[in-house]
Amino acid sequence: MNYRNYGKLGYQVSAFGMGCMRLPRIVNAKDEAEVDREKAYEMIRYAVDHGVNYFDTAYGYHNKTSEEVLGEALEGGRREKVRIATKQPFGVMTDLKSGGGKTIRENARRNLENTLKKLRTGYIDVYLIHNIGKYCWEDVKKEKIIEEYEKVRSEGLIRAIAFSYHGDFSCFKDVLGFYDWGMCQIQQNFMDVEKEATEEAIHLAGKKGCALVIMEPLRGGLLATPPDPVKEIYDEYPVKRSAVEWAFRHVLNYPEVSAVLSGVSTLEQLKDNIEIFSKPDAVPGCLNAEEKKILSRVKAKYESLVAVPCTGCEYCLPCPQGVHIPGVFGRYNDGKMFGSFDQPQRGYMFMTRGKSDASRCVACGACEKKCPQHIGIIEQLKTAHEALRGWVE
Ligand code: SF4
Ligand code: SF4
Repeated sequence: MNYRNYGKLGYQVSAFGMGCMRLPRIVNAKDEAEVDREKAYEMIRYAVDHGVNYFDTAYGYHNKTSEEVLGEALEGGRREKVRIATKQPFGVMTDLKSGGGKTIRENARRNLENTLKKLRTGYIDVYLIHNIGKYCWEDVKKEKIIEEYEKVRSEGLIRAIAFSYHGDFSCFKDVLGFYDWGMCQIQQNFMDVEKEATEEAIHLAGKKGCALVIMEPLRGGLLATPPDPVKEIYDEYPVKRSAVEWAFRHVLNYPEVSAVLSGVSTLEQLKDNIEIFSKPDAVPGCLNAEEKKILSRVKAKYESLVAVPCTGCEYCLPCPQGVHIPGVFGRYNDGKMFGSFDQPQRGYMFMTRGKSDASRCVACGACEKKCPQHIGIIEQLKTAHEALRGWVE
């Protein structure tokens, strides 16, 4: 396993960080999906025994059971060998009913104490505010959440304060510059170089000496199984690599990156990931000019496979029925581009929660009049909904 510096915190972590958000699942007697604990324990223990020392989980993963499964798997001597990063979303801190605290800060502490119990540990190495974005950043500051995190750090319950982020570069810059964070976690893969926080965020975090952890290097697994026109481009290159390895090498190429999270679901995937992250040449600067060109062509090929020419401009919004039109088309296009609807279906379920899916469209036509791309939104929404519905969490 290759190891990298974890920013200013003075230790090294495995370049492969095991994400605990896609652990193996089974369907239980109530017909609900849940973590297959025996398989998950086997994978987590295998990872530690083969040099993986960085684990990422969160309060909400796997219906709030991921932290517990990780804690159980690490019991008996493995906890001390690893760093655990976990997260609490601002939305959970503000939910006073379920947290039981009287104030948001008190609630944040109660949730943390609960997390410590689930993880069966006395401290968390890195504690994140989960999914900071424009929608909550002003409130995070107003409620003094960072001060609460500092307080629990001074008591030894957490060791570093961090954040994960989804959104554009300008808000990322504000968040990063506001505080001396121990780590920041952003989405990056070769399809998202100009999207999300962008490549600029990587360089900025590096300049600041902040540890940087990459999530979604395979875009929710979508980059793992390329369609034939994409495969043909990879096959042109004399060095044969899987699509997964190409995608990982894109992010490993950045010297600023401390760890890359991969949410493995089987032992075979885990073994494959460990092998890729252990190669002697899987280090900063691992992509040469020709390889970068291959990835640019792959990206362009994927983009040429989109089904609906929606640019995400949002001129069609708001829809009186609450349909998030560009969100629906974004997921539908992902399914078409990447040749798999598993992740897009899951994303659609989380985005709509059965309240704003495309079936609510009443064909009023208001959106079509505003679309600069002249998309037949009403018909396309029907097709997209058929392809995206059906995910059960
Ligand atoms: S046509 Fe459908 S999606 Fe478009 S604004 Fe009307 S209800 Fe919303
Ligand atoms: S107006 Fe058209 S292009 Fe813009 S987000 Fe809506 S559907 Fe997409």
